[in-house]
Order: sequence, then C-alpha cells, then structure tokens
Amino acid sequence: MNNSIDILVVSTKTITNNLIKPGEKEVYLTFDDGPSQNTSKVLKILKDIDINATFFVNGHPGYEDVYKQIISQGNVIGNHTYSHDYKTEYSSILSYNQDVDKLNSYLEGIGIPKPTLMRFPGGSNNTISNNYGGKDIMNQLIKEAIRKGYQYIDWNVCSGDSDKTTESKDVIIDNVMRGVKGMKFIVILLHDSKPKTTTAEALPIIIKNLKEQGYVFKTLSINSPVIHFK
Ligand SMILES: [Zn+2]
Repeated sequence: MNNSIDILVVSTKTITNNLIKPGEKEVYLTFDDGPSQNTSKVLKILKDIDINATFFVNGHPGYEDVYKQIISQGNVIGNHTYSHDYKTEYSSILSYNQDVDKLNSYLEGIGIPKPTLMRFPGGSNNTISNNYGGKDIMNQLIKEAIRKGYQYIDWNVCSGDSDKTTESKDVIIDNVMRGVKGMKFIVILLHDSKPKTTTAEALPIIIKNLKEQGYVFKTLSINSPVIHFK
C-alpha cells in the first residue's frame, strides 16, 4: 500500500511533493532579505529550541560571520539575489542572472556552497517584474532558474511583517496563527532586516504555538515539497 501522496493542494497553491508522511504536519520557517542586525537574535532562538530554518539571503558585506553561523547551526541558505533591487534585476534575464551569480560568488568567497534554492524577490507572482522586464519575464526567469538546477520557493503563509516598516509583534503572531489554520504543510514568509525587530520578538511564541499544534520544523531542500505561485 502506498501511504505517500504526490500532489497536495492547499487553497489555491499546488504543492508538488515527493513524500509527505500521512498525518505529519510540517512547517518551514523562511527568513528573507538578511542577514541583518536581527539575525543573531533569530539564530539564538532557533538554537535554544533546537530547530532550523531557511534563510533567503541577499548580499550584505560585513555580515560574513553571520552567514557562516547560519550554516554552522544547520540552517539552509537560499539565493534571494545580491541586490534585491527590482529595477536592476528584473530589467532583463541577463540582469537577473548576474544578480543571482553575484550572490553565489560572494557566498563562495566566504566559504558557503552555491545554494540550490532560490526565492524571487517579491515572489514568483510579483507584478513588479512586469513593470521592468515585461509581462513574460517572470515565466522566463522561472524556466531559466529550473534549467540552471535551482528550485524556487514561494510561501503559503504570510507573517505580514513587511506590511509596515515594523509591524506589531502581536499582529505578526496573529497573522501566522490565522494563516496556518487547517494546513498540513506550511512555508511561512518572515523577514530578516534591520527594522524587523518584532519578527524576532514574535518568533518564540510562533514556534511554541506551532509545536503545540504538532508541527514538525524542517528546512527546505531541492527535494522538499514546494510552494509555487505559478
Ligand atoms: Zn525579499
């Protein structure tokens, strides 16, 4: 008997999956745009609770030790482009690839292997890319990313920590807990940048609540179930 499922549809998003164990509830915490002044705090929280997360990083010279600490603690780094500058990177496929490669070279320079995961700045359904590279650019970038061996990852639960420069801790917790309701496989979008102090403050409570609900914390890999907007 085959106990595995290979396609799981959650709301409007399709998760292509190798194996999700029946009954298992999985959560993938993802932190975008770091490292930043908040990363060490986030890493300490994760370490103290003995779980790991996935960090979709940009290029932030000066934080070399933090990138290394992310990896040495067993977390995963994904490519979120070097600049996160929509205008530059979404102007053409070439510009986007250059920005991705720039981050890879930077990471390689500090001893971090080339990521196999990618998250498009703004997500794969963003309309910003249309403004700079035309309406088909995202489709082309997705094809190109896959051709180059990346898995791109979106999210199905939004913490809302980017709705304001610094959202209130309670709103972030509430957004996540409302977002996960009834979901067995969740990829949560959180941010790791200077003003996101409340994300770090909300994190222990979010983790505690999810643990109580029976979620297992995992890191993304090339073989993980994936969330794709498109
Ligand atoms: Zn981002």
